[in-house]
Formats: sequence, structure tokens, C-alpha cells
Amino acid sequence: MPYNRIYLKLTGNSTTGFRMPKMVFSRQFAAGDEIFRLGDHARNAYIIERGEVEISLLRDGEKVVIATLGQGEIFGEMSMIDDAPRSATVTAAADTEVVVIQRSRFQQPLKTSDPLMNMLLRVVLTRFRDAQRQLSGMRAKSGEIDPAMEEIRTLAFHRIQVEKDMRQGLEADEFELHYQPIIRLESGLIAGFEALMRWRKNDGDMVSPMEFIPLAEETGLIAELGRWALRVAIQDHGRFANRYRTAFPDLPMPFMSVNVSGLQLSELSEIDQLEAIIKESGVDPAHIKLEITETLMVQNPDHATKALNKIKELGVSIAIDDFGTGYSSLSYLHQFPLDTLKIDRAFVNNMDKSQNSGRIVSSIAQLALAMEMDIVAEGIEEKPQMDALRELGCQYGQGYYMAKPAPADAIMELIDSRPGW
Ligand code: C2E
Ligand code: CA
Ligand code: CA
Repeated sequence: MPYNRIYLKLTGNSTTGFRMPKMVFSRQFAAGDEIFRLGDHARNAYIIERGEVEISLLRDGEKVVIATLGQGEIFGEMSMIDDAPRSATVTAAADTEVVVIQRSRFQQPLKTSDPLMNMLLRVVLTRFRDAQRQLSGMRAKSGEIDPAMEEIRTLAFHRIQVEKDMRQGLEADEFELHYQPIIRLESGLIAGFEALMRWRKNDGDMVSPMEFIPLAEETGLIAELGRWALRVAIQDHGRFANRYRTAFPDLPMPFMSVNVSGLQLSELSEIDQLEAIIKESGVDPAHIKLEITETLMVQNPDHATKALNKIKELGVSIAIDDFGTGYSSLSYLHQFPLDTLKIDRAFVNNMDKSQNSGRIVSSIAQLALAMEMDIVAEGIEEKPQMDALRELGCQYGQGYYMAKPAPADAIMELIDSRPGW
């Protein structure tokens, strides 16, 4: 049977620039042609463009038609999910044209999808196959362990366990915020703080945010965690501000920077919740800064524009975090209402080792100046790095050289000691 139309279709998420070619063919069958047979190895699924097919089983050696499908319907899809051989025979009941979807088209999304969804699909499929077997007079399979199913089940249970732990952790106050001072480089004095989340599990283990934030994003718990962080950071800001006023009576109030995940902003209504938290607290929004990574802006610029403008209306300022990593593009910067650009620590760390990193930091600093944005250089670990950044006109710096993130009480003691760098 010749393939009468073969074309390459470009798919993938065009906003990320990721494109994957995939083969989608059209095939024609004459009335009576067998498209595949019970027990065949499964290669494709099919969508009927025109015509009709019959799905049949054998019962006691007799052909039993269990369904007739027409235009727009799909068949052969079950074996795309598991590796089982065809559980029925499909025959063209009229001259039929189908779109063929290759197995590889299903495999990638299945690999990357939520293990829980994956498990659900397979469970439904297994039950359906068992019912089909019973219909054809065969006995349902039992007691057989499918290794692929076992792996998916393990992954799904692990994911559920972590989600449950995080939810309980949130209720049991296992999450806390640590704060890292942000220094005005010109004066060497503290100008603000970044709130960084910590999870101390009840067994005493500390889990890094690098580990639990992505999980919270996958499970959707990030919205709740993010709201909690904003609420606590604002409360602690009030305590820090009191001490700061005494320690540095001539300086403006310090700011509080809170990280917000792009996924947390996937619903615009979430911003109303953040607004309510700020309003309830009575804090002057001008003292609050939200740090957002550039992924949000690159992956969905239209949504990001709406979200960031809405955030800006709250009166808070916006920092773009980890600038220079990932998909960084200068062209989009002016589209968004950004106040601060945080240069990723990878560049700062390599400034003295690589000329390129030095040049990149210097260009970012110039760019930010031209766009009237502040710059915070992250990850300053040595004095020469701080000196070099000062030279470049970088306004703010943050890093282990000045202070590591610490619990609120330690930060208040630090403020009292009026440190300078
Ligand atoms: P980030 O926003 O880039 O935060 C800065 C990270 O760099 C922090 O790691 C901080 O401890 C670390 N750091 C600061 N100075 C230095 C330095 O001089 N040298 C080195 N090597 N590291 C330094 P941390 O606290 O482990 O946080 C990691 C990431 O987790 C954060 O990166 C942020 O993306 C995420 N995260 C933390 N808290 C929150 C949160 O409340 N919400 C969200 N959405 N993400 C958070
Ligand atoms: Ca940050
Ligand atoms: Ca950062």
C-alpha cells in the first residue's frame, strides 16, 4: 500500500524555539483491506479522515464485530500507551483514508508526562483490555506483573508521597524563610534582603529549594508555598525595618525581595491573592520586590506582559532573576516593566577567571544603566569581585563574601551590629 501523501509537520512549542519534526502520513485502504490484525506488533495509531472501519474479535473462532468507527474517530491508540500486541483486528468497511500517527509521537509526551497521569492511563487501559478479553470469551489476565507498569506505579507513588509530605510540612510549620542581605556597593551597607525558602523535615533533614521548588511547581503546590513566603517575608520585613531604623537612622527603609515562580503566575487571578496579602499586611508596597526568572518571559511573553503589568499595578517592584542564564534575550527586556536585573552568580564567580564573564557583566551593567534599571550582582564570594563590580557601577551586590542566608533572628543581630563591607 503506497503512502500517497507524506509530509513533514513541524510541531513543538514555537515560543521556546524548540521544534521537532514528526512524520504524519495519510494512507488509503480499499473496502475489505485489513489495517491490522489481532496479535500484530503495534506501530501506529490512526485517525479516520474519510470512510469507515470495523473492529472485530474472534470468539470461538467466529469473527465478532465490536465497533464500527467513522470520520474523525481514532483507533489503534491503545498499544501506543503500553507495548501490548493488538487486541483486535481492524478492517476497512468502505474505501477509507486515515492519518497515521507514529508510535514515537506518543512515546515522548508519555515519558515526560506526570507519572500519576501515566499510571491512570495504564490502569484504565488494563481494565479496558480485561473487559475486552472477557467479551471475546477469554479469561482476564491476572497476577502478571508488567515491569513498565511497576516502574510507573513506583514513580507515581513517590510523587504522591512527596506532595503529601510537602502539604503536611506546610501545615506543620516545617518551612521557614532565611534571609540574605543585599548590599549597596557604593556605601557597603545593607540595603535590603532576599527571602529564601528552607524545608526542615520533621526527621531533621534539610531539603534544598533546588530540590523542592521544582516539585512544588509540578504538583501545583507552588502557589500556596509562594503565598506563604510572601506573607512571612512581609512580617519579617516589619521586624527588620524596626531594627534598621535604629541602626541606620539616615538611610531609606530596606527592601524585601521575594522569589515568585513563573508557574505561580500561570493564573492571573493568583496576583489578586498576592495583592490581598500585601494589602492586609499594611506594608508599603514600594518596599517589596518580586523576583521572577526570565523563563516566564521567554516561554510566554504575552502572558508575562499581562502578569507583570498587573503586578506592577500593586506598587511593588520587579526584579528579573538569574539574568544571563537560559534563553536570555535582550530584545524582550524593554517589553516588560522591570526595575531590577539580577546578574546570575555564574558570571560574577567567573569574572576574575574568564575575560568573557567580565565583559558580559560589564555589558549587562551598561545595558541596565541605559534602561534605568538597578543591578544586583549575585554570588559575590571574594572581595576582588565586589571591588570590580563597584568599579563597573553595579548598585547592589549579594553573596557569601558579605553574608550567607540566615534565619530572621540572626539577621536582626546582624542589623544591630551595623556591618559594612
Ligand atoms: P536564587 O533566587 O538565585 O537564590 C540565590 C541562591 O544563591 C540561594 O540559594 C543563595 O543561598 C545562593 N547564594 C547566595 N550567595 C551565594 C554565593 O556567594 N555563592 C553561592 N555559591 N551561592 C550563593 P538557595 O537558597 O539554595 O536557593 C536556590 C534557589 O531556589 C533560588 O535561587 C530560587 O530559584 C529558589 N528559591 C528559593 N526560595 C524560593 C522561594 O521562596 N520561592 C521560589 N519560587 N523559589 C525559591
Ligand atoms: Ca532570587
Ligand atoms: Ca538568582
